[in-house]
Amino acid sequence: MEEIYLVKIGEISLKSGNRKFFEQKLKSHIKFRLRGYPSKFSGQNGRFYLTIDSEHGEKARTVLGTSFGVTSFSKCVTVKKDIEVINQEALKLGKAFLDGGAGTKFKVESRRADKKYFMTSYELSAHLGGVLLDAYPELEVDVKNPDWKLNVEIRDKAILYGPPLRGPGGLPVGCAGKGTLLLSGGIDSPVAGYLMAKRGLKLDAVYFHAYPYTSDEAKEKVIQLAKLIAPYCGGVNLFIVPFTEAQLRIRDVAPTNEATLHMRAGMVRVAEIICRNREAGCLVTGEALSQVASQTVSSIGFTNSISNLPIFRPLIGMDKEEIIKIARKIGTYETSILPYEDCCTIFSPKHPLITPDIERISESYKKIELEEYLVKAAEEAERIYISPRDGIEPKPEK
Ligand code: ATP
Ligand code: MG
Repeated sequence: MEEIYLVKIGEISLKSGNRKFFEQKLKSHIKFRLRGYPSKFSGQNGRFYLTIDSEHGEKARTVLGTSFGVTSFSKCVTVKKDIEVINQEALKLGKAFLDGGAGTKFKVESRRADKKYFMTSYELSAHLGGVLLDAYPELEVDVKNPDWKLNVEIRDKAILYGPPLRGPGGLPVGCAGKGTLLLSGGIDSPVAGYLMAKRGLKLDAVYFHAYPYTSDEAKEKVIQLAKLIAPYCGGVNLFIVPFTEAQLRIRDVAPTNEATLHMRAGMVRVAEIICRNREAGCLVTGEALSQVASQTVSSIGFTNSISNLPIFRPLIGMDKEEIIKIARKIGTYETSILPYEDCCTIFSPKHPLITPDIERISESYKKIELEEYLVKAAEEAERIYISPRDGIEPKPEK
Protein backbone atom coordinates (compact mmCIF):
# COMPACT_ATOMS: atom_id res chain seq x y z
CA MET A 1 0.00 0.00 0.00
CA GLU A 2 1.07 3.51 -0.79
CA GLU A 3 0.40 6.72 1.05
CA ILE A 4 0.10 10.07 -0.70
CA TYR A 5 0.59 13.45 0.92
CA LEU A 6 -0.42 16.80 -0.51
CA VAL A 7 2.26 19.31 0.46
CA LYS A 8 1.58 23.03 0.72
CA ILE A 9 4.28 25.64 0.59
CA GLY A 10 3.97 29.16 1.88
CA GLU A 11 6.31 32.00 1.26
CA ILE A 12 7.99 30.24 -1.65
CA SER A 13 4.97 30.83 -3.79
CA LEU A 14 5.36 34.58 -3.24
CA LYS A 15 8.75 34.67 -4.91
CA SER A 16 7.34 34.56 -8.38
CA GLY A 17 10.58 35.26 -10.26
CA ASN A 18 12.55 32.64 -8.36
CA ARG A 19 9.79 30.22 -7.77
CA LYS A 20 11.29 27.40 -9.84
CA PHE A 21 14.58 27.74 -7.99
CA PHE A 22 12.90 27.62 -4.57
CA GLU A 23 10.77 24.67 -5.54
CA GLN A 24 13.81 22.86 -6.86
CA LYS A 25 15.60 23.35 -3.53
CA LEU A 26 12.60 21.99 -1.67
CA LYS A 27 12.43 18.97 -3.94
CA SER A 28 16.09 18.12 -3.61
CA HIS A 29 16.01 18.62 0.18
CA ILE A 30 13.08 16.25 0.63
CA LYS A 31 14.46 13.70 -1.80
CA PHE A 32 17.81 13.83 -0.02
CA ARG A 33 16.22 13.24 3.37
CA LEU A 34 14.18 10.35 2.04
CA ARG A 35 17.07 8.70 0.29
CA GLY A 36 16.84 4.95 0.84
CA TYR A 37 13.07 5.11 1.33
CA PRO A 38 11.30 4.25 -1.93
CA SER A 39 9.24 7.37 -2.54
CA LYS A 40 8.37 10.01 -5.12
CA PHE A 41 8.14 13.73 -4.54
CA SER A 42 6.78 15.67 -7.44
CA GLY A 43 4.71 18.64 -8.42
CA GLN A 44 5.06 22.28 -9.28
CA ASN A 45 3.38 25.66 -8.96
CA GLY A 46 2.81 25.34 -5.26
CA ARG A 47 1.24 21.86 -5.29
CA PHE A 48 3.42 18.92 -4.42
CA TYR A 49 2.74 15.29 -3.75
CA LEU A 50 4.79 12.82 -1.81
CA THR A 51 4.07 9.18 -2.50
CA ILE A 52 5.63 6.62 -0.20
CA ASP A 53 5.14 3.08 0.93
CA SER A 54 2.71 2.95 3.89
CA GLU A 55 5.28 1.27 6.11
CA HIS A 56 7.35 4.48 5.91
CA GLY A 57 4.44 6.81 6.58
CA GLU A 58 5.85 7.98 9.89
CA LYS A 59 9.18 8.82 8.31
CA ALA A 60 7.38 10.82 5.63
CA ARG A 61 5.46 12.80 8.24
CA THR A 62 8.67 13.50 10.15
CA VAL A 63 10.46 14.72 7.05
CA LEU A 64 7.58 16.88 5.82
CA GLY A 65 6.99 18.22 9.33
CA THR A 66 10.59 19.37 9.63
CA SER A 67 11.51 20.52 6.13
CA PHE A 68 11.70 24.27 5.78
CA GLY A 69 9.46 25.61 3.07
CA VAL A 70 6.60 23.25 3.94
CA THR A 71 3.74 25.11 5.64
CA SER A 72 1.35 22.17 5.89
CA PHE A 73 0.68 18.76 4.45
CA SER A 74 -2.29 16.42 4.37
CA LYS A 75 -2.51 12.72 3.97
CA CYS A 76 -4.67 11.79 1.00
CA VAL A 77 -6.95 8.81 0.79
CA THR A 78 -7.36 7.28 -2.66
CA VAL A 79 -10.49 5.21 -3.24
CA LYS A 80 -12.73 3.94 -6.04
CA LYS A 81 -15.00 6.55 -7.63
CA ASP A 82 -18.03 4.72 -6.28
CA ILE A 83 -20.09 7.36 -4.47
CA GLU A 84 -20.89 5.01 -1.57
CA VAL A 85 -17.19 4.47 -0.97
CA ILE A 86 -16.54 8.22 -1.21
CA ASN A 87 -19.32 8.86 1.33
CA GLN A 88 -17.71 6.48 3.80
CA GLU A 89 -14.27 8.06 3.43
CA ALA A 90 -15.76 11.56 3.79
CA LEU A 91 -17.40 10.47 7.04
CA LYS A 92 -14.14 9.07 8.38
CA LEU A 93 -12.27 12.25 7.52
CA GLY A 94 -15.05 14.47 8.91
CA LYS A 95 -14.63 12.62 12.19
CA ALA A 96 -10.85 13.07 12.06
CA PHE A 97 -11.28 16.85 11.61
CA LEU A 98 -13.76 17.01 14.50
CA ASP A 99 -11.68 14.79 16.81
CA GLY A 100 -8.62 16.89 16.03
CA GLY A 101 -10.46 20.00 17.29
CA ALA A 102 -10.52 21.67 13.86
CA GLY A 103 -13.83 23.43 14.60
CA THR A 104 -17.41 22.98 13.42
CA LYS A 105 -17.66 25.34 10.41
CA PHE A 106 -16.72 23.49 7.26
CA LYS A 107 -16.88 23.42 3.52
CA VAL A 108 -16.41 20.69 0.90
CA GLU A 109 -14.33 21.64 -2.12
CA SER A 110 -14.42 19.30 -5.11
CA ARG A 111 -12.54 19.26 -8.39
CA ARG A 112 -13.08 17.04 -11.36
CA ALA A 113 -10.33 16.03 -13.73
CA ASP A 114 -12.68 13.32 -14.98
CA LYS A 115 -15.30 15.49 -16.67
CA LYS A 116 -17.47 12.44 -17.41
CA TYR A 117 -18.12 11.80 -13.74
CA PHE A 118 -21.84 11.64 -13.05
CA MET A 119 -21.82 14.63 -10.68
CA THR A 120 -20.42 18.09 -11.29
CA SER A 121 -17.95 19.47 -8.75
CA TYR A 122 -20.69 21.63 -7.31
CA GLU A 123 -23.10 18.69 -6.99
CA LEU A 124 -20.48 16.51 -5.37
CA SER A 125 -19.60 19.20 -2.80
CA ALA A 126 -23.27 19.75 -1.99
CA HIS A 127 -23.86 16.02 -1.72
CA LEU A 128 -20.91 15.34 0.59
CA GLY A 129 -21.77 18.40 2.67
CA GLY A 130 -25.19 16.86 3.20
CA VAL A 131 -23.71 13.49 4.13
CA LEU A 132 -21.50 15.12 6.77
CA LEU A 133 -24.31 17.30 8.15
CA ASP A 134 -26.57 14.27 8.54
CA ALA A 135 -23.92 12.31 10.39
CA TYR A 136 -22.54 15.10 12.62
CA PRO A 137 -25.29 17.51 13.67
CA GLU A 138 -22.80 19.85 15.37
CA LEU A 139 -21.38 20.76 11.95
CA GLU A 140 -22.41 23.83 10.01
CA VAL A 141 -21.56 24.78 6.44
CA ASP A 142 -19.68 28.06 6.01
CA VAL A 143 -18.35 28.51 2.50
CA LYS A 144 -16.84 31.97 3.13
CA ASN A 145 -15.02 31.39 6.38
CA PRO A 146 -14.76 27.69 7.18
CA ASP A 147 -12.67 26.29 10.05
CA TRP A 148 -11.70 23.44 7.78
CA LYS A 149 -12.15 22.18 4.24
CA LEU A 150 -12.66 18.69 2.96
CA ASN A 151 -10.99 18.58 -0.46
CA VAL A 152 -12.04 15.93 -2.93
CA GLU A 153 -10.65 15.27 -6.39
CA ILE A 154 -12.12 13.01 -9.01
CA ARG A 155 -9.44 11.64 -11.31
CA ASP A 156 -9.04 8.02 -12.40
CA LYS A 157 -9.74 7.46 -8.71
CA ALA A 158 -11.27 9.65 -6.03
CA ILE A 159 -8.80 11.43 -3.75
CA LEU A 160 -9.83 12.89 -0.40
CA TYR A 161 -7.52 15.02 1.72
CA GLY A 162 -7.29 14.58 5.48
CA PRO A 163 -6.68 17.25 8.14
CA PRO A 164 -3.57 19.32 7.47
CA LEU A 165 -0.52 18.76 9.64
CA ARG A 166 1.85 21.64 10.32
CA GLY A 167 5.17 22.07 8.59
CA PRO A 168 7.85 24.36 10.00
CA GLY A 169 7.36 27.14 7.40
CA GLY A 170 10.39 29.17 6.34
CA LEU A 171 12.27 28.71 3.08
CA PRO A 172 13.96 25.60 1.65
CA VAL A 173 17.53 25.17 2.82
CA GLY A 174 20.05 26.38 0.26
CA CYS A 175 17.88 28.98 -1.43
CA ALA A 176 19.58 31.77 0.56
CA GLY A 177 23.14 30.61 -0.12
CA LYS A 178 25.62 29.25 2.38
CA GLY A 179 26.90 30.38 5.77
CA THR A 180 29.20 29.26 8.57
CA LEU A 181 27.74 28.70 12.02
CA LEU A 182 29.93 29.08 15.10
CA LEU A 183 28.58 26.08 16.97
CA SER A 184 29.54 25.72 20.61
CA GLY A 185 28.12 23.18 23.01
CA GLY A 186 25.74 25.72 24.51
CA ILE A 187 22.03 26.30 24.20
CA ASP A 188 22.14 29.30 21.89
CA SER A 189 24.18 28.44 18.82
CA PRO A 190 22.19 25.37 17.67
CA VAL A 191 19.06 27.53 17.88
CA ALA A 192 20.78 30.27 15.87
CA GLY A 193 21.68 27.68 13.21
CA TYR A 194 18.12 26.38 13.11
CA LEU A 195 16.71 29.88 12.66
CA MET A 196 19.07 30.79 9.82
CA ALA A 197 18.48 27.44 8.10
CA LYS A 198 14.80 28.32 8.34
CA ARG A 199 15.51 31.42 6.24
CA GLY A 200 17.05 29.19 3.59
CA LEU A 201 20.73 29.26 4.57
CA LYS A 202 22.80 26.11 4.02
CA LEU A 203 25.21 25.76 6.93
CA ASP A 204 28.65 24.53 7.74
CA ALA A 205 29.47 24.51 11.44
CA VAL A 206 32.74 25.42 13.17
CA TYR A 207 33.58 24.31 16.69
CA PHE A 208 36.62 25.57 18.62
CA HIS A 209 38.13 22.82 20.69
CA ALA A 210 40.84 23.50 23.24
CA TYR A 211 42.06 20.00 24.00
CA PRO A 212 43.05 18.96 26.70
CA TYR A 213 41.48 21.95 28.45
CA THR A 214 38.19 20.96 26.91
CA SER A 215 37.45 17.25 26.98
CA ASP A 216 36.59 14.70 24.32
CA GLU A 217 33.12 14.64 25.84
CA ALA A 218 32.74 18.35 25.00
CA LYS A 219 33.64 17.57 21.39
CA GLU A 220 31.24 14.61 21.29
CA LYS A 221 28.53 16.86 22.62
CA VAL A 222 29.00 19.29 19.74
CA ILE A 223 28.99 16.42 17.22
CA GLN A 224 25.73 15.32 18.81
CA LEU A 225 24.29 18.85 18.44
CA ALA A 226 25.37 18.92 14.81
CA LYS A 227 23.54 15.61 14.31
CA LEU A 228 20.44 17.10 15.88
CA ILE A 229 20.36 20.07 13.52
CA ALA A 230 21.59 18.15 10.45
CA PRO A 231 18.16 16.95 9.26
CA TYR A 232 16.82 20.52 9.34
CA CYS A 233 19.92 21.79 7.55
CA GLY A 234 20.06 19.11 4.87
CA GLY A 235 23.34 17.80 6.34
CA VAL A 236 26.16 19.65 8.04
CA ASN A 237 29.90 19.77 7.55
CA LEU A 238 31.32 20.24 11.03
CA PHE A 239 34.84 21.67 11.35
CA ILE A 240 36.58 20.95 14.64
CA VAL A 241 39.25 23.61 15.05
CA PRO A 242 42.22 22.89 17.36
CA PHE A 243 42.22 26.16 19.28
CA THR A 244 44.51 25.45 22.22
CA GLU A 245 47.64 27.14 20.87
CA ALA A 246 45.78 30.31 19.97
CA GLN A 247 44.15 30.39 23.38
CA LEU A 248 47.42 29.85 25.20
CA ARG A 249 48.98 32.64 23.17
CA ILE A 250 46.18 34.98 24.22
CA ARG A 251 46.47 33.87 27.85
CA ASP A 252 50.24 34.40 27.88
CA VAL A 253 50.38 37.70 26.01
CA ALA A 254 47.15 39.68 26.40
CA PRO A 255 45.95 41.56 29.48
CA THR A 256 43.84 39.09 31.47
CA ASN A 257 40.64 41.11 31.43
CA GLU A 258 40.73 41.27 27.60
CA ALA A 259 41.19 37.54 27.02
CA THR A 260 37.59 36.70 26.17
CA LEU A 261 37.37 39.49 23.62
CA HIS A 262 40.53 38.42 21.83
CA MET A 263 39.45 34.83 21.85
CA ARG A 264 36.12 35.84 20.30
CA ALA A 265 37.94 37.90 17.70
CA GLY A 266 40.21 34.92 16.96
CA MET A 267 37.18 32.69 16.51
CA VAL A 268 35.67 35.11 14.03
CA ARG A 269 38.90 35.23 12.08
CA VAL A 270 39.25 31.41 11.87
CA ALA A 271 35.58 31.07 10.97
CA GLU A 272 36.11 33.67 8.26
CA ILE A 273 39.00 31.67 6.74
CA ILE A 274 36.93 28.48 6.74
CA CYS A 275 33.91 30.35 5.43
CA ARG A 276 35.83 31.78 2.47
CA ASN A 277 37.47 28.42 1.71
CA ARG A 278 34.05 26.87 1.54
CA GLU A 279 32.72 29.69 -0.61
CA ALA A 280 30.16 30.60 2.00
CA GLY A 281 29.08 34.19 2.44
CA CYS A 282 28.30 34.91 6.09
CA LEU A 283 28.92 33.92 9.69
CA VAL A 284 26.22 33.01 12.20
CA THR A 285 26.55 33.13 15.99
CA GLY A 286 24.26 32.51 18.93
CA GLU A 287 24.98 35.85 20.56
CA ALA A 288 22.20 37.76 22.35
CA LEU A 289 22.65 41.34 23.43
CA SER A 290 23.91 41.70 27.01
CA GLN A 291 23.83 37.97 27.69
CA VAL A 292 27.51 37.93 28.71
CA ALA A 293 30.44 40.37 28.75
CA SER A 294 31.43 39.66 25.16
CA GLN A 295 27.94 40.45 23.94
CA THR A 296 27.70 44.15 24.75
CA VAL A 297 27.35 46.71 21.98
CA SER A 298 31.02 47.66 22.07
CA SER A 299 32.27 44.05 22.37
CA ILE A 300 30.19 43.07 19.36
CA GLY A 301 31.50 46.17 17.60
CA PHE A 302 35.02 44.87 18.12
CA THR A 303 34.38 41.31 16.91
CA ASN A 304 32.54 42.73 13.89
CA SER A 305 35.63 44.73 12.98
CA ILE A 306 37.66 41.53 12.53
CA SER A 307 35.92 40.44 9.34
CA ASN A 308 34.12 42.04 6.44
CA LEU A 309 31.72 39.15 6.22
CA PRO A 310 28.18 39.81 7.38
CA ILE A 311 27.69 38.24 10.82
CA PHE A 312 24.12 37.16 11.50
CA ARG A 313 22.97 36.94 15.10
CA PRO A 314 19.38 35.76 14.92
CA LEU A 315 19.05 35.62 18.73
CA ILE A 316 20.26 39.14 19.35
CA GLY A 317 16.96 40.41 20.74
CA MET A 318 15.85 37.27 22.53
CA ASP A 319 15.63 36.41 26.22
CA LYS A 320 17.16 33.16 27.37
CA GLU A 321 13.67 31.79 28.06
CA GLU A 322 12.62 32.37 24.47
CA ILE A 323 15.79 30.70 23.21
CA ILE A 324 15.26 27.71 25.52
CA LYS A 325 11.73 27.31 24.21
CA ILE A 326 13.03 26.89 20.67
CA ALA A 327 15.86 24.62 21.86
CA ARG A 328 13.28 22.34 23.47
CA LYS A 329 11.12 22.39 20.37
CA ILE A 330 13.96 21.35 18.08
CA GLY A 331 15.30 18.80 20.55
CA THR A 332 18.74 20.29 21.25
CA TYR A 333 18.14 21.50 24.82
CA GLU A 334 18.81 18.25 26.67
CA THR A 335 22.16 17.82 24.91
CA SER A 336 23.13 21.48 25.32
CA ILE A 337 22.78 21.36 29.09
CA LEU A 338 25.15 18.40 29.53
CA PRO A 339 27.84 19.72 31.86
CA TYR A 340 31.01 19.86 29.73
CA GLU A 341 33.15 22.97 29.76
CA ASP A 342 33.46 25.15 26.67
CA CYS A 343 36.80 26.67 25.76
CA CYS A 344 35.38 30.13 26.53
CA THR A 345 34.61 29.31 30.13
CA ILE A 346 37.97 27.71 30.84
CA PHE A 347 40.09 30.66 29.82
CA SER A 348 37.67 33.40 30.74
CA PRO A 349 38.84 36.02 33.27
CA LYS A 350 36.99 36.67 36.53
CA HIS A 351 36.48 40.33 35.65
CA PRO A 352 36.25 40.63 31.89
CA LEU A 353 36.29 43.96 30.11
CA ILE A 354 32.70 44.74 29.26
CA THR A 355 32.79 47.97 27.30
CA PRO A 356 36.07 48.03 25.38
CA ASP A 357 37.23 51.11 23.52
CA ILE A 358 37.38 49.79 19.97
CA GLU A 359 40.63 51.53 19.04
CA ARG A 360 42.44 50.46 22.18
CA ILE A 361 41.26 46.87 22.03
CA SER A 362 42.11 46.68 18.31
CA GLU A 363 45.65 47.91 19.08
CA SER A 364 45.95 45.37 21.84
CA TYR A 365 44.73 42.60 19.48
CA LYS A 366 47.42 43.46 16.95
CA LYS A 367 50.10 43.19 19.64
CA ILE A 368 49.19 39.55 20.33
CA GLU A 369 50.23 38.66 16.76
CA LEU A 370 47.65 35.94 16.64
CA GLU A 371 47.26 35.61 12.88
CA GLU A 372 49.74 32.76 12.33
CA TYR A 373 48.10 30.72 15.12
CA LEU A 374 44.69 31.33 13.58
CA VAL A 375 45.73 30.39 10.05
CA LYS A 376 47.32 27.20 11.37
CA ALA A 377 44.21 26.36 13.42
CA ALA A 378 42.01 26.80 10.35
CA GLU A 379 44.33 24.61 8.27
CA GLU A 380 44.37 21.86 10.85
CA ALA A 381 40.63 21.76 11.36
CA GLU A 382 39.15 18.29 11.20
CA ARG A 383 36.08 17.99 8.99
CA ILE A 384 33.24 15.65 9.87
CA TYR A 385 30.38 15.32 7.43
CA ILE A 386 27.02 14.58 8.95
CA SER A 387 24.48 13.70 6.29
CA PRO A 388 20.80 14.27 7.01
CA ARG A 389 20.51 10.52 7.37
CA ASP A 390 23.30 10.32 9.99
CA GLY A 391 21.39 13.01 11.81
CA ILE A 392 18.99 12.40 14.66
CA GLU A 393 15.46 12.86 13.37
CA PRO A 394 13.65 15.75 15.00
CA LYS A 395 10.05 15.59 16.10
CA PRO A 396 7.65 17.46 13.84
CA GLU A 397 6.00 20.56 15.29
CA LYS A 398 2.58 20.08 16.86
P1 ATP B 1 25.94 29.24 23.42
O1 ATP B 1 25.78 30.58 22.86
O2 ATP B 1 26.79 28.36 22.61
O3 ATP B 1 24.68 28.62 23.79
P2 ATP B 1 27.09 30.65 25.45
O4 ATP B 1 26.02 31.67 25.35
O5 ATP B 1 27.59 30.30 26.77
O6 ATP B 1 26.65 29.36 24.78
P3 ATP B 1 29.01 32.37 24.50
O7 ATP B 1 30.27 32.18 25.19
O8 ATP B 1 28.13 33.45 24.88
O9 ATP B 1 28.27 31.03 24.52
O10 ATP B 1 29.31 32.47 22.95
C1 ATP B 1 28.58 33.25 22.05
C2 ATP B 1 28.63 32.64 20.67
O11 ATP B 1 29.99 32.43 20.24
C3 ATP B 1 28.03 31.26 20.63
O12 ATP B 1 26.62 31.31 20.48
C4 ATP B 1 28.72 30.65 19.45
O13 ATP B 1 28.11 31.07 18.24
C5 ATP B 1 30.11 31.23 19.55
N1 ATP B 1 30.99 30.31 20.31
C6 ATP B 1 31.33 30.35 21.60
N2 ATP B 1 32.17 29.34 21.94
C7 ATP B 1 32.34 28.63 20.81
C8 ATP B 1 33.09 27.44 20.49
N3 ATP B 1 33.81 26.78 21.39
N4 ATP B 1 33.04 27.01 19.22
C9 ATP B 1 32.30 27.65 18.28
N5 ATP B 1 31.59 28.75 18.53
C10 ATP B 1 31.59 29.23 19.78
MG1 MG C 1 25.16 32.57 24.29
